[in-house]
Amino acid sequence: MTAVVETDVAIIGAGPVGLFAVFECGMLRMKTVVIDALEEIGGQCAALYPEKPIFDIPAHPEIAGADLIAQLHKQCAPFNPLLMMGRRVDALRQEGDGFVLATSTGDTIRCKAVVVAAGAGAFGPNRPPLDRLAEFEATGGVRYMVSRREDFRGKQVVIAGGGDSAVDWALSLKQIAAKVTVVHRRDKFRCAPESAAQLKQAAERGEIELAIPYQLHGLEGEGGQLTGVSLATLKGEVKTVPADHLLAFFGLSMELGPIADWGLGLERSHIAVTPATCETTIPGIHAIGDIATYPGKLKLILQGFSEAAMAAHAIHPRVFPGEALHFEYSTSKGLPAAG
Ligand code: FAD
Repeated sequence: MTAVVETDVAIIGAGPVGLFAVFECGMLRMKTVVIDALEEIGGQCAALYPEKPIFDIPAHPEIAGADLIAQLHKQCAPFNPLLMMGRRVDALRQEGDGFVLATSTGDTIRCKAVVVAAGAGAFGPNRPPLDRLAEFEATGGVRYMVSRREDFRGKQVVIAGGGDSAVDWALSLKQIAAKVTVVHRRDKFRCAPESAAQLKQAAERGEIELAIPYQLHGLEGEGGQLTGVSLATLKGEVKTVPADHLLAFFGLSMELGPIADWGLGLERSHIAVTPATCETTIPGIHAIGDIATYPGKLKLILQGFSEAAMAAHAIHPRVFPGEALHFEYSTSKGLPAAG
């Protein structure tokens, strides 16, 4: 469902730095909306290394990526940020004293200031290089994630990939789908050994068909209705598997995408900012975290946290013009009420 939203500060990116920016803005009584291309918060920490320990977060001798994100979420929750997940910010333009953002799902966000905490760009699925892909993506014939398991009840599903997502969804969907075929180019799966063993057993029982060593070759169907997926071996042997859906799990990649078109003065895919305020070349648009650059910049989460605080203080006069901002410690003022 599309939304039209007004807020003080729009934060692009729900990675660790974007989440901490919610807290810093909240402490200064500024309302925030956070937009992220991913369905889940956490940026790189959640998407790339949820179980890896991080050792250089102050006061946490060791904390797993997912646990850091859970703590940041808890810390910013009192400020009730609106989290708009699963949509990319495609356009950003100035309007009067403020800005208007447009997302890939048709939402409009009006705000007084923007914080770009976009890391190395929006996360998105790695797409297979197949003809007519867009046609079948538009109708849901080809998908890269499962948001509603029930969509696959009674359907013929082809799952491509050899990692945890491919294997876990094959094991889950075999319970409700009419047929599940797993396509992988080699016999070895990059998933938990227990899951690989379960997949093999399910294949032996005839509950899952394994198409190995095959790769995706083409999509068949008319009017956006997928009817089959053609598969090929490296030797060029081709076969077609009937399919209502293709689920392709080839991992995620990051893409700067539309940010490059916003006139923010990119320096080798990073946004140059004034270090003391993290302001970009456009007043009112700030960049923090991995995407921001200035002399001495370290791409560390702890540095992004500090940038979030500096950006929030620099934005305050835009949101509350004429109101003096007296610097205060959180211990002195406590948490202000959410706006
Ligand atoms: P990200 O975490 O990259 O989040 C950016 C978010 O913005 C993403 O979710 C993306 O989808 C979203 N986004 C981008 N563009 C758009 C758009 N147009 N619309 C909507 N959403 C958008 N750092 C440390 O300090 N210590 C460590 O030990 C450490 N270990 C690491 C280990 C690994 C394996 C990796 C990959 C990184 C590690 N890092 C570490 C780096 C750390 O993860 C990054 O510095 C940190 O994630 C940057 O946070 P961020 O919020 O700036 O960006």
